[in-house]
Parts: sequence; structure tokens; C-alpha cells
Amino acid sequence: MDDVRVAIIGAGIIGASCAYHLARRGAEVTVIEKEEGVAMGSTGRSAAGFRTQFAQPHNVDLSLLSLEWYAANESGYRPEGYLFLVPDGDLAEREALVEMQRSRGADVRLLTVEEAQQIVEFDPAGIAGAAHGPKDGFVDPDQSTQLLMRNARSEGTVFHRLETVIGVERGSAWTLITDDGQIEADVVVNAAGAWSGGIAELAGLDVPVQPQRNDVFVTAPQDRGGPLPLTVDLTSGVYFRTEGDRLLIGHHDHDSPKGFLTGVDWDHLEEMMPALFERYPWFEQEELDTKASWWGYYEVTPDYTPILGRDPSAEGWINASGFSGHGVMHAPGCGQLIAEEILDGRAHTIDIEPFRIERFDGADLTTETAVI
Ligand SMILES: Cc1cc2nc3c(=O)[nH]c(=O)nc-3n(C[C@H](O)[C@H](O)[C@H](O)COP(=O)(O)OP(=O)(O)OC[C@H]3O[C@@H](n4cnc5c(N)ncnc54)[C@H](O)[C@@H]3O)c2cc1C
Repeated sequence: MDDVRVAIIGAGIIGASCAYHLARRGAEVTVIEKEEGVAMGSTGRSAAGFRTQFAQPHNVDLSLLSLEWYAANESGYRPEGYLFLVPDGDLAEREALVEMQRSRGADVRLLTVEEAQQIVEFDPAGIAGAAHGPKDGFVDPDQSTQLLMRNARSEGTVFHRLETVIGVERGSAWTLITDDGQIEADVVVNAAGAWSGGIAELAGLDVPVQPQRNDVFVTAPQDRGGPLPLTVDLTSGVYFRTEGDRLLIGHHDHDSPKGFLTGVDWDHLEEMMPALFERYPWFEQEELDTKASWWGYYEVTPDYTPILGRDPSAEGWINASGFSGHGVMHAPGCGQLIAEEILDGRAHTIDIEPFRIERFDGADLTTETAVI
């Protein structure tokens, strides 16, 4: 399979990672991207968080596999931690989660309220404890994507930018029809992020990925010190973290409408503020920088879990999308697994059964609940 021709749709961090891992193993790789460079979709709009604290073991495994690359490369990885504030009544459940995460190899520990307050100042009303992952933290999504693509290109990857895939045909091989010509490939990797449901439709396939708008609100420069971990109040789901001398604030609203909505959702900020001020009264002194705040798309699946691997409906079609807000942290591992799936016949470094599209045929979906 070494001389297999692989066409990857999308040059976000997932497409770049797949290209790098495939090209270094000898595949003939072409990446097609509609924008003028890499990381111009969701990747460039990410909050850049990396964490191992998930509710599903397979997502912990994918984070740990990705951490190997992030820690070993010029990725901007900063282990500044994630801190989850656990509400009264949920501590036993969190303890079980932490045990599961630790059993997979994640460095996560339970803290008392007082220990957590040594890290971040918060009102402890209704909080029973905290879960802290000191090796969780942040990466630089743009720098990482650039690096992956640069390395992919030095291994022979051809990069078509400013070219949009507008049609997909299947004969003895795949033909991707673009607004600038045609590209033939033995294998297609759908790494089109929030657009991947639409790309699959072009091939007559049903890949349940939908865009869902998400915002990051940014304060003016402040002098509270830091760096602080990404801190999530699990009573409300609102998070904040430091970036330089600014604070970033966010929250995933599961009920927000799906679709390609544009612009910062200021009403969402209004809804979040009471919970933010209640937990962190000091936030009331901070000033918002409306111009620095931004929005982008989560690419969500029905169970908030990515769709990885061969599509049984079409030979040579590989799904690598639907990361549901976790694509940056899961990209290096994803690329490695997709290269194995194509070149070795099956992904093997970790078990990707829970990520395969066939799971939607069964009755019970195991939803990832740690989505923030
Ligand atoms: C506000 C926000 C905060 C986030 N925070 C985090 C976080 O803290 N940590 C984390 O891990 N993740 C986070 N995410 C999610 C993360 O950004 C995504 O999961 C990840 O970037 C997905 O990468 P991707 O390569 O699949 O998609 P993208 O980066 O969107 O790349 C897909 C590419 O496909 C291209 N494309 C689409 N259609 C076509 C076509 N027809 N022809 C050619 N090219 C096409 C697009 O232009 C795009 O460049 C966040 C997302 C948002 C919006």
C-alpha cells in the first residue's frame, strides 16, 4: 500500500496531521483546501485547550496518544492544567472518572476545595472538590498545523490551496472534482471539519457531522497574575483561562442551533455572566474586549465523539471528522491512526472501534459528556 494515492479534503489540523503521518510512511498525498492556507477553519478559532479529562476512555486514550506528539515537537504545548470544579453530590461520580482516567495513564488527581482555592480564587458555595490535570493545558493550533503541513510537504505531499471540492465521483478510483480541475485518488480522507457532512453528501454518503457555533470571549489586559489553568465550573459549564495578560471565557451551549450561523453570539455571553460572577466575584471588575472576542464552528456528531476510519458504505472512503470541539487536542493521534487504517489495513495503536461510523447503526450510543 506504500504507493497508495491519498487525497485529503481540508487543511485544518486534522488534514495536516493525516497528511504528515501518511506521507512519512510513503503514501502519495494530495491535500485540497478551499482557503488560502492551513488552519483557516475551526482550527484557527480554537481555544487551544488540551486535556486528558474525558468521560469516555477512548477519548482519554486519543488525548494521551496526541500528547506524545505535542510534548515532543515545537507545538507551543504549555502544561498549565485543567481544573474542574465539582458540584455537591457529584464527587463520587468524579472520583470514578478520575480513577478511569488514571487507569489509562492520565495524570489527574482529586483536590479538596481548599486545595483548589490555592490555584484559583472562587466562591466555594455548592462545590465539593475539584479534579486537576497538571499536564493538561494549551498548544498553539496554528503553529502545530503549520509544522505538520511543512513536514508533510517535505515528505512529498502536494498542497492545493484556494481550491474547493465541488463534486465526488467513484469509478475504478475516486475522482474529486474541484473548481480548478480534477484529482484522482485510491483513498479519500474526509477531513473537512464542520463541512464534512456536506462533503460526504457529495459522495452520496451519510456522515452525521453538523456545524454548531461556539464563542470565546476575551477580556482587556488585566493584572490578576497567572498563568491559571483552564477552570470549568461544572455547575454551569462556564470556563475561563488566562492567555498572556487576558482572560478567555467560554461555554458550549448544547442547545444552540446547528448550521453555519456567523458572528459572536453576545446573547450567549449575557446568559453566562450570572454564573460567572457568582462563582468568581472578582470577574465583575474585568472589562470585556469585544474586538478580541471570536467565534467558530464546533463540528458535532450525535454522541460528541469523532468519526474515524473506513466507511463501510464506500471502499476507500475514510472519515476523520466530527471532533465535536476536541479536534486540536486529538489531531496528532488521529493522523497516526488514519495512516495505520490506510497503510496497515486497520488502525492498531489504539482501538478505534468506538470511533467507527458503524456505532450509529446500534441502539445505544455512548455519548461523551465532558464537552465544554
Ligand atoms: C470557539 C472554539 C473553541 C475551541 N476550543 C477547542 C479547544 O480548546 N481544544 C480543542 O481541541 N478543540 C477546540 N475547538 C475545536 C477545534 O477547533 C476543532 O475540533 C478542530 O479545529 C477541527 O479540525 P479540523 O481540521 O477537523 O477542521 P477545520 O480546522 O475546520 O479544517 C477543515 C478544513 O476543510 C476545509 N474545507 C471545507 N470544505 C472544503 C471543500 N469543499 N474543499 C476544500 N476544502 C474544504 C475548510 O476550509 C477547513 O480549512 C474549538 C473550536 C471553536 C470554534
